[in-house]
Amino acid sequence: MSINVNNQDEVASPSKTNEMLKKHKLVLKKSLGQNFLIDQNILHKIVAAADLDDQKGALEIGPGIGALTQQLAKAAGKVVAVEIDQRLLPILEETMQAYPNVKVIHGDVLKLSLEEIFQEFDQSTKVSVVANLPYYVTTPIVMKLLETRLPLENIVVMIQKEVALRMAAPPGGKDYGSLSIAVQYYCEPELVMIVPRTVFIPQPNVDSAVIKLKVRTKPPVEVEDELWFFEVVQACFAQRRKTISNNLLARFFTKDTRDELNGILQQCDIDPIRRGETLSLSEYARLSNALLAYKP
Ligand code: SAM
Repeated sequence: MSINVNNQDEVASPSKTNEMLKKHKLVLKKSLGQNFLIDQNILHKIVAAADLDDQKGALEIGPGIGALTQQLAKAAGKVVAVEIDQRLLPILEETMQAYPNVKVIHGDVLKLSLEEIFQEFDQSTKVSVVANLPYYVTTPIVMKLLETRLPLENIVVMIQKEVALRMAAPPGGKDYGSLSIAVQYYCEPELVMIVPRTVFIPQPNVDSAVIKLKVRTKPPVEVEDELWFFEVVQACFAQRRKTISNNLLARFFTKDTRDELNGILQQCDIDPIRRGETLSLSEYARLSNALLAYKP
């Protein structure tokens, strides 16, 4: 379906956004992360990063008054947008009038079933998540998207810069942690751009970035027990300044079994005095597989 609309309909400009908020007497809620995008350039770059076409679908979380949704509707065959704030529904009805390929669902994305939302798309449609996420729930939303194992193509999201850097961080630096490992287990991350605060109404008090997560069809490492793998990773980062040996001892070993840990680390070719932030994804996979017998 090709959508032809007059640019006059687009809501992403300071004057249009303010006009719309005033018309509907809407006071934005900080508690819902309501920082609306007002820059067409940034919107176009976000949409371009998602590689959409009219055969593909986009799932948007938090359409707000529809600035990004309008651009997604022009780029994709179908858009499903989930919005928690009931007050925005009449506004979205207005701003989506010229876009029949958009379906708005009212609800909290953290409580709704993603599988059910996904049924809005044809089974053969390649779907990407594209959103300017509410920052107070960025990590739970991204983790829910990944852990649900939906057959997503890409996840292109505007998030806090600091969280984006953590998701994309390679081993060895201060940004690398359990979030980097979880994201990189499921996806290939790519930092698309750093975004200034001035492109939002109201301006957030943190810097932002757009990150593209290309969802992998299969994890890059062989892990025998995924839950355990993530538990081992968490344990190794429990106290960042401690060695992995001390972190693992505190969590899974007793005085009687502490020698066994050294044996396992040696067998995995991992120096016990290394810190969690220096281990690669494949070293964590090797370590968690070797430690499986110690799973409580
Ligand atoms: N997409 C719009 C834009 O770019 O201008 C608005 C983005 S704003 C950062 C985040 C949006 O997410 C708000 O509309 C907010 O009401 C909505 N939201 C917050 N928490 C949500 C949740 N748990 N589920 C669905 N939407 C949520």
